[in-house]
Amino acid sequence: MRAGGGGGDIYCFPPAFSFATSTRESAPGILTAATIANSDTKESVVFLSIFKKAGFFVARLTNQGVGMTGESPIAAIFKENADYYEIHENLYKANARLQDRDMLSLLDNLLARNEPKNSLIVLHTYGSHTTFEDRYDEPTFSPTCKDIQFDCGGEHYKNSYDNTIAATDYYLSEVMKKFRDKNAVLIYTSDHGTRLSGFKMHAPNQMDDPDLRFVPIFVWFSPKFERKELIAKMRQNLDKNISRDIIFHSLLSAGGIDAEIKDENLDIFSPKLKPHSDPYLRRSCANFARTQMIFYDFRRDSREEKAFFVALALALR
Ligand SMILES: [Zn+2]
Repeated sequence: MRAGGGGGDIYCFPPAFSFATSTRESAPGILTAATIANSDTKESVVFLSIFKKAGFFVARLTNQGVGMTGESPIAAIFKENADYYEIHENLYKANARLQDRDMLSLLDNLLARNEPKNSLIVLHTYGSHTTFEDRYDEPTFSPTCKDIQFDCGGEHYKNSYDNTIAATDYYLSEVMKKFRDKNAVLIYTSDHGTRLSGFKMHAPNQMDDPDLRFVPIFVWFSPKFERKELIAKMRQNLDKNISRDIIFHSLLSAGGIDAEIKDENLDIFSPKLKPHSDPYLRRSCANFARTQMIFYDFRRDSREEKAFFVALALALR
């Protein structure tokens, strides 16, 4: 547990099993009740629709999507369910460098509306997706891929990646500051992992590769978060191995929404949360989990090989 950018507490779970190993498959997975074992996202409920029915204001801000159009496998889901939808202008510019810090002005615009309802805000960010050099301005770590002329690898490549994590840390700390005076909780995860050694590019459907399967999940509560009993319940689950499957059900709990579809076995705020048993990756991730833990405070000695992707923020009235 560490203090977040705006005060409040951050709780990290051991790295969680991803839904899939590519953005195209994982992104819809994050938004729906589909699970790793039962992965048909097309037939699955999206959590946005449930929040909307429960009276929430639902928003999506993003700098992700196909260049010049903003389209993506999940754009239609948001168009159908969100009350507010904004794509960063850089997505419409050829060769723009897409950086998550650009999302902060979109968030400012949204918060300035001062919506009277409870809000679900999906901050759908670019994270550490390649090309790493485009995700940050000034390097914290060097030498990077910019410093060599030919095919980048080894330490250069890792330094470039680490710089993307430093940029993510900055972005997240700023997001937390914007919510510190609100009754808010933020759940953060990524769509899939990535490799920093060996083959740089990965092919989809490599569900048995731990580098591609383990993703961060952490939860931040603002100092003003009111339902302290939820925090107490979640703390009892922090040593359990979880998967991306928890996002849907845990978000409902965080939002105080009771729905028939909710499964307490997949709810980090329930004592019934069951440790994940993965159908593809059967070896224990216990050691891996302990050595790979960083999320918020960037620490050089615990590099995480993950592409950050989605932050989900709930601001409750
Ligand atoms: Zn991705």
